[in-house]
Amino acid sequence: MAEDMTTPLLSDSEGPADALPVCLTSPTVAILGSGDFARSLALRLVASGVRVVVGSRCVNRIPSGLFPDAVELRNQEGAVSQAVCLVFMALFPEHYCSLLGLQSALAGKVLVDVSNAAEMNIHGLSNAERLAELFPNSLVVKGFNTVSTWELQTGAHDGSRQVLICSNSTEGKKKVVQLARQMGFHPVDMGGLSAAREIEVAPLRLLPSWSGPVVVTFLLFLFFYGYGVLLGILLPFLAQGHNAFYRLALDLVNESLPAVALVTLALVYFPGLFAAWLQLWSGTKYRRFPSWLDNWLQRRKQLGLLSFLGAALHGVYSLCLPLRRISLHRIVNTAYKQVKAGTEEPWDELGVWRSELYLSCGVLGLGVLSLLAVTSLPSVGNTLNWREFTFVQSGLGYIALTLSIMHTLFFGWDFAFHIEAYPFYMPPSYLLAVVLPCIVLVCRCFLLLPCIFTRLTRIRRGWESKRNCPVLQHHHMVTNGIP
Ligand code: NAP
Repeated sequence: MAEDMTTPLLSDSEGPADALPVCLTSPTVAILGSGDFARSLALRLVASGVRVVVGSRCVNRIPSGLFPDAVELRNQEGAVSQAVCLVFMALFPEHYCSLLGLQSALAGKVLVDVSNAAEMNIHGLSNAERLAELFPNSLVVKGFNTVSTWELQTGAHDGSRQVLICSNSTEGKKKVVQLARQMGFHPVDMGGLSAAREIEVAPLRLLPSWSGPVVVTFLLFLFFYGYGVLLGILLPFLAQGHNAFYRLALDLVNESLPAVALVTLALVYFPGLFAAWLQLWSGTKYRRFPSWLDNWLQRRKQLGLLSFLGAALHGVYSLCLPLRRISLHRIVNTAYKQVKAGTEEPWDELGVWRSELYLSCGVLGLGVLSLLAVTSLPSVGNTLNWREFTFVQSGLGYIALTLSIMHTLFFGWDFAFHIEAYPFYMPPSYLLAVVLPCIVLVCRCFLLLPCIFTRLTRIRRGWESKRNCPVLQHHHMVTNGIP
């Protein structure tokens, strides 16, 4: 642990509270409150070899066996006096005022605020900042609120190991960082106490980076499914009275999934191309992208994983197709008709080629997409260097996109050129699905043209066109003798 104290993990920001004396000896830690969090924290601290004393308003009310035997139970004053340095405030922030009587006992001690925000939008001060106002002679550190009681109990080998920490006191932060490491967590220094707002709402967020991609994917699914319902079920029903509503459950879902997967995969590579064309057009890489493009670029991983999900589900659905009653019915019915008519179905060589090719491209595309999904996992991605990672995510990504487009085109074969493929003057959904991916591929091919590729590479290495670099422009004018 001694070397942990010397590790320059912490920022140099020091608050006014640093002038306070901080005790450096005993590891005894106090926890105020005897609820769920206090119990799990005490368990973990004891397992990490820390002496723990729990301070409750009413010790007698704590059922025996709730805390490990090694934990000492006391009233709040007794617990605070036992704690040499660290006191965890394992109670709700609205009850902090009830501890004002302990102000002098808590002076000079590190108070760890573990509370979460009650709602996403914090108005005014954060809980930790309010605690610091109530106890100006203590060193308030925000931390451990992002760790759940489950993570505290399951130990260091399971669950998230990050503990976000912030404080205006470097000394206080050091103590908490040291303890977090001793407990098997990874402390992450988030800076001064003003960062507490961000840390307090962190546990309330539900997959923040996923909402946009999930909404986009869902809307795409709704579009393709709705289009399929209109074209394949409603219009034939209204025009010819043909009842195909049974297709709603499986057939149409399976038709929509690959379209969603393909368009979503195109959406992974589209913003990168857009950014490249923007850089070419502006002649510099130093101009900021619009925020919507920035956000889009940051959500590529999520879009890619959702595309993989769509493709994988399509694979499973397709395997189920021959098992359906309707398929069995059709096979038996066709065989019966042939026997009755005394005819033999001729071997359709072209049709066989078509199905072999589209299945093969689909399986290969799904395989490459799986590789992309696996390498996007942090544990796998971290083992690759930047070159390997971009090769997999960009190079193999375009291969997956190409194979998926080929899968769709082989599926369509020459039907796209037949008038029967456009019932009610509407194109089939697979044709709609390949439009954006094809645009992406063509734009990518243009970027590979030597004249464009060379210019883009120069821009990405820091070169700027003259109109973006007035200094160079001036230099050029001077050397050319232009006043
Ligand atoms: P809890 O089970 O309700 O425990 C809160 C404790 O506060 C009680 O056991 C009680 O201890 C004390 N208390 C209750 N009313 C009080 C009052 N009027 N005045 C003073 N003390 C009072 O809550 P918890 O789940 O342990 O959560 C405690 C804190 O941890 C909260 O700020 C929460 O945001 C944070 N947290 C919880 C979790 C979690 O998974 N539960 C995760 C992260 C952060 P005594 O009766 O012994 O005094």
